[in-house]
Amino acid sequence: MIPVDADQVLDGLNDEQRRAVTTATTPLCILAGAGSGKTRVLTRRIAYRAINGDHDPRHVLALTFTRKAAGELSNRLRQLGLRDSVAAGTFHAVAYAQLRARWAERGIRPPDLLDRKVGFVARLLPKSAGRSGSTSKAAILDVVTEIEWAKARALDPDTYFDEVQRLHRRAPLPQRDMADVFRRYEDEKRIQRKVDFDDLLRLCRRDLLEDRDFAQTQRWRFQHVFVDEFQDVNPLQRGLLEAWVGGRDDLCVVGDPNQAIYTWNGADPTALTGFLDRYPAGEVIRLVENYRSSPQILAVANAVLADDSTGSAGPGRSAESALLANRPDGPRPTIRMLADDTAEAHAIARTVRDHHGPGARWSAQAVLCRTNAQTALIEQSLHQAGIPFRVRGGGSLLAQPEVQAALDDFRRHRGDFSVAITDLEATAARMAAGGEPDPMVTEAEPDHDADGRSGNLAALARLARDFATIDSRPTGVGFAAWLTAATRADQPDGHGDAVEIATFHAAKGLEWPIVHLAGIEQGLVPIGHADDADELAEERRLFYVATTRAERELHLTWAELRTFGSRAVSRTRSPYLDQVEAACQALQAATTTADPLPFLSTYRSRRRTTDLAVELATEPSWPPRGAGASRDLDPAGRATFDALVAWRGHQARAAAIAPAAIFHDRVLVEVAAVRPTNSAELLAIAGVGEIKGQRFGDAILGIVAEHGAS
Ligand code: ATP
Ligand code: MG
Repeated sequence: MIPVDADQVLDGLNDEQRRAVTTATTPLCILAGAGSGKTRVLTRRIAYRAINGDHDPRHVLALTFTRKAAGELSNRLRQLGLRDSVAAGTFHAVAYAQLRARWAERGIRPPDLLDRKVGFVARLLPKSAGRSGSTSKAAILDVVTEIEWAKARALDPDTYFDEVQRLHRRAPLPQRDMADVFRRYEDEKRIQRKVDFDDLLRLCRRDLLEDRDFAQTQRWRFQHVFVDEFQDVNPLQRGLLEAWVGGRDDLCVVGDPNQAIYTWNGADPTALTGFLDRYPAGEVIRLVENYRSSPQILAVANAVLADDSTGSAGPGRSAESALLANRPDGPRPTIRMLADDTAEAHAIARTVRDHHGPGARWSAQAVLCRTNAQTALIEQSLHQAGIPFRVRGGGSLLAQPEVQAALDDFRRHRGDFSVAITDLEATAARMAAGGEPDPMVTEAEPDHDADGRSGNLAALARLARDFATIDSRPTGVGFAAWLTAATRADQPDGHGDAVEIATFHAAKGLEWPIVHLAGIEQGLVPIGHADDADELAEERRLFYVATTRAERELHLTWAELRTFGSRAVSRTRSPYLDQVEAACQALQAATTTADPLPFLSTYRSRRRTTDLAVELATEPSWPPRGAGASRDLDPAGRATFDALVAWRGHQARAAAIAPAAIFHDRVLVEVAAVRPTNSAELLAIAGVGEIKGQRFGDAILGIVAEHGAS
C-alpha cells in the first residue's frame, strides 16, 4: 500500500483541479470536458478529505452507472491508499444491498427479481401486437424498452400517458395501448411478488422516505456522497440520490454535459447543468485543460463539438466548451475510405498490427464503433490476423438479446439452412422498414447503446451466409457453434494483453493511446434513425465522446459499400468528417507555414500509469498561477496581469494548446511588473524570446499600454 499524504494527493493538479479537490463548499459540482481530470479530481477529493479528517472514508459513497466504472473507481481509490473502505457501486447495486439488509432485519421475504422481462411482457401484449419468430421478440423488446424508459423518467402507468402525449413521443404501441400494457405489467408483477431492477431504486427511495429508522441507518452509513458521470443520471436515480442525501449538503457530482449520451434512455443532463437551481448554496467548478489527448486530437474533437451547422443545441453546447491541450504534439488524425466493410475491417486489423511491437502493447489500442452489429466483422478480422481482442461491456453482437433469440431459432431449425437465413433477412428487413428507433434493452444497468436491432439481425444473417460458403453441410446448430468459436476463440481472459473492441457508448470514461473509429458513415454516425434535432445533437456528442478517448493517435475509417444481410448498400461518409477534415487541414497548414504554435506545447509527457506512486513521481510540478503568481504586483500591475492572462486564454483556445505553452505565468508576472514600452524591453524579459516576441509583441505591448503603464 502506498502511503499517501495530502501534499501528494494535490501534487500534479492544476489550480482549478486543486480547488475542486480542496474546497470545503458543498454541494459541489465539477463541470468539465472530456479528459479534464474529473474522475481524477473525484477520487483525489475523497482521499484528500479523508487524509485531512474532513470525512471518514467508511462513510463515503461513490456512485457510478456501470459495474466497470465502479470497479475502476475502487481501483483508483485503492491506489490512493484508501484500501476497500470507500463504498463504490452502481445505483442498483447499492439500492439492492440496502433493501436486502432491510428485508432481512425485518423478516420480510425478499420479492423475486424479474431479470428476464421478455417472456413476462409477451403474455401481456394485445394479440394484434404479437407476431411470429424473432419479429415478435423484437416487438416485445421495444415494449420492454419503453417500460424501462418510463420507469427511468419516474413515470407510473397514470402519468406515462400524459407525458408521452406532452412529448409527442413515438411509442412502440399506440400510446393508450402502451399505457395499458405498462399498467398490466406493474399489476402482474405485484400479484406475482416480483420486482424489476428499476423497482429496486423506487423501493429503496420509498423506504428511505417512509421508514425513519432505515433512513437514519443508511444516512449515517453514507454521509458523503459522490457521483461520477452525473450527466447520465435519470429522474428515478436522481430521486433516490436525493433520498440518500436526505436534505444534507455533502454531495459532490462531476460530469460533462457534452458527453450526455443516454437521454434516449431517460437520462436528464439538466440535473448537471441546473445544479445550482437545485442547490443554490452549492458551487460549480469548471476545468478547461485536457490531460488526455494530443493537441491534434483535441483540435478535431473541439471542431466536432463546435460545429452547429445542424442547428441542434446540446445541453452543454457553447463556445466555452473547447478544451485546452496539455499533452505533447502527436500525429494528425487520419481518415481512410475503404472499398467495403470487409476491406475496412482488414485495414483496421493491419493498422492495429503495425502499431504493435516492443513497448507497444495490444491494450494500448481500441477499435470503437457506433453499433454492436459492426463488431462482428472487426472481431473476425482481428481473429484472422491473430490479434488478441476483448469486446467490452457486452457490446459484442452475440451478447445482444435479439441475436441470442435468433441464434436459438437457428439451433432449433431442422430444415434447409438457407431458408433459415432468408427468414432472418426478411425479419431484419421488416424491422428496418418499420422505421422505429431501436433502443436496446437495459436490464441491470444502462450499459447498452441504441443500436438498430434490425442491423444486428442483418449482421447475423450475413455471418450465416459466410458460414454457408465455408461449410459444405451448414446447419443451424453448426452455425451457432461456429459463430461462438469464430468471434470468441482467442479472446484472452479479462487480464490478458488485448485490443479492446467497444461501442462508442461502452467506451465512455475510458482512454487508450491509439483509437480506431470504424464505420464513420452517414447512417451510422449519426445513426440512421436519429431524425430530430435532439437526437442528432446526441449523436454528435456521442461522436465527440468517441474522438476524445484517444490519447496519441486517432484513425477514422469508412466504407463505400456495406452489406446488411444479403444487401450491399452504397454508403456516403459521415457529415462529421467535414469538421474532422477541416481541423486536420488547419493543423497541416499550421505546421507547413512554420507557425510556432503547434510546436509550443512541449510539455513533459504525463504518462498514464496504474501505480500512483510512479504517477506522482513523474508528474511535473506546475508553475504558480493566478492570484498566487500575481501577489507582488501593484493594482495596475495586477490589472495588466489579469488582462494578459485573459488574452493568453483566448490565444490558447484558438490554437487548442495549453495557455502556459504560450507564456508561463511567471513571464506574464514579469511583463506586468516591468511594463515594457517597446519590443527591446519586452525581449529583455526572460522567457519571451525571439519567436514569441515577434509573434505576440504588439499584442502584449498594447495590453500593457492600455492597463495603466506609468
Ligand atoms: P472523461 O470525461 O472522459 O470521463 P475525465 O474528465 O474524467 O474524462 P480523467 O479520466 O480523470 O478525465 O483524466 C484524463 C487523463 O488525464 C487521465 O489519464 C488522468 O490521469 C490525466 N490527468 C488528469 N489531470 C491531470 C494532471 N493535472 N496532470 C497530469 N495528468 C492528468
Ligand atoms: Mg471520467
